[in-house]
Amino acid sequence: MKLRWSPKTKVAVVMVVALCLPVSALITAQLLRLYYLEETKPVQAILNQQLLQGMRKVEKQILVERNGLAAELAGALEPADLSKPQELHRRLQQAAATKPFIDLAVFYSPETGAFIAPRPAPADSFEASERMENGEQLAGSIEATYQRFTDMLVEGEKSRMYSAVEDFLVVLKRNRNQYNTAHYVLLHDAEHRPAGVLGFTMDRKYLQETLFNEAFRKVQAAEPENSPFDYTVLGIRDRETGDLIWTSEPTSAKWDAKDARKSFDYVMLFHVMVAKMKGMTIDEMAHEFMMRNLLLVLGLAVVMFGGLFFTWRSVNREMELARLKSDFVSNVSHELKTPLSLIRLFAETLELGRVRTSEKAQEYYSIIRKESERLTGLINNLLDFSRIEAGGKQYRFEPTNLAGLVEQTLESYRYHLEQRGFELEEHLDAGLPAVQVDREAYSLCLLNLLDNAVKYSGDSRKVAVSLFRENGSAALGVEDHGIGIHRKDHRRIFEKFFRAGDPLVHNTKGSGLGLSLVKHVAQAHHGSVAVESSPGQGSKFTLRVPIDDAGRN
Ligand code: ADP
Repeated sequence: MKLRWSPKTKVAVVMVVALCLPVSALITAQLLRLYYLEETKPVQAILNQQLLQGMRKVEKQILVERNGLAAELAGALEPADLSKPQELHRRLQQAAATKPFIDLAVFYSPETGAFIAPRPAPADSFEASERMENGEQLAGSIEATYQRFTDMLVEGEKSRMYSAVEDFLVVLKRNRNQYNTAHYVLLHDAEHRPAGVLGFTMDRKYLQETLFNEAFRKVQAAEPENSPFDYTVLGIRDRETGDLIWTSEPTSAKWDAKDARKSFDYVMLFHVMVAKMKGMTIDEMAHEFMMRNLLLVLGLAVVMFGGLFFTWRSVNREMELARLKSDFVSNVSHELKTPLSLIRLFAETLELGRVRTSEKAQEYYSIIRKESERLTGLINNLLDFSRIEAGGKQYRFEPTNLAGLVEQTLESYRYHLEQRGFELEEHLDAGLPAVQVDREAYSLCLLNLLDNAVKYSGDSRKVAVSLFRENGSAALGVEDHGIGIHRKDHRRIFEKFFRAGDPLVHNTKGSGLGLSLVKHVAQAHHGSVAVESSPGQGSKFTLRVPIDDAGRN
């Protein structure tokens, strides 16, 4: 069996296959991509990577700064003269007292043993007695691994790393363990031979208030303008309690458990370095990125489907117009054929002399006249229509007594009405002032409206024509009590070729041009045409022309 599709179905299928499918595929692909991004979180990974890079740079800078401080401390004691231990001890104490970065300093050499120099004014973090205890622990650890430290530091000096680090546990305050990281530096004698190892812990406040900030600022200054580092906020957190002990931007609140982090043991034992973007967390940022993309895709979808919808609508309109045109051709041919065959039939009958009575002959003559008038009317409509379509329709406006013109037109139509048993009611206001109209066009309008009233009257036999003044217009009303017009068609009946779907309309000949001509004439007169009607209730058409319109051409 062969599939037979209506043109509309064909267009629908073509649109679905050629447009909807690719558009849907495109949008689906975009959505899948977004879903993939949401699932695998590459955005988060990239951001994380960037933050990690920033953290590495700052940590490295902190180590460089700390090496500088270690070298400074060593410089204050060198050359270490082991033959004068008191002198060495005094210089150590002086350094601990004057260098703000020192919390605790310990010197050890096998020759002299250990000297402990805590910072004299107790800093916040460590009490004096505890600091002394810590000093002893530190001294003990240096002593225990003296040779290893020395070798390590000698190696370190070759690569310009002046201090080394070892995990160092400090037991502190109220049974709570607190930790610090100790740093070691090698001291040399006058001949630049290793003379002992100096260990020190750094003051927490100094780290928080000076060293970290300085390192951060230096990295920032070295970064090119608008680098990701500009948007990075760093922090240092206690790994156990989660307390933030330092941040590069104290005003920026909102840290997140999922912020990028890296170990910070080389500087402060049991601490981590954390980083986030300024203003929002990585998740928020990724979420914003997602939302923006999602909105974009959805917006695109709306635009694309909107476009499809409009294409569909305009294609449908064109198809409808094509259908109307072909209906029009068959309607018009039909309308031309009927009067012509009648004229021929009666003319032949007369010619052959078959008519017996003169009344009969009279009747046939009048039929021939009537039918030829109908033909003329139809052809006038067609000619007017084609002129209008070609944009070449010219109107000749002249001051006109409308009541007279309407009366005259009705007169020529009265016979037609009476023949069909119609009763014509007239209310013409003879007192209207002269109005500028094209007489021929105006009377064509009235004829078209009357013709419709007659055609679509159904069983009713009453037509009323009125002419009256309404505000600044002369209003011509044509009213019938026929089949009426559905609300939804009120606008469309004025379109060319349109004919309502009512069965009576289809059984009645017509071109679908009459009302579109009336509308054109109304507009050319700067007036309007309107309809009041509902199915079964009859219709009233009103043509309004402004009474005093000087601007008409
Ligand atoms: P035609 O009458 O040749 O079809 P028109 O442009 O004059 O074309 O009218 C368009 C359509 O409007 C008609 O086909 C009919 O459906 C509807 N129509 C016009 N006048 C009336 C009326 N008086 N009563 C009911 N329907 C009407």
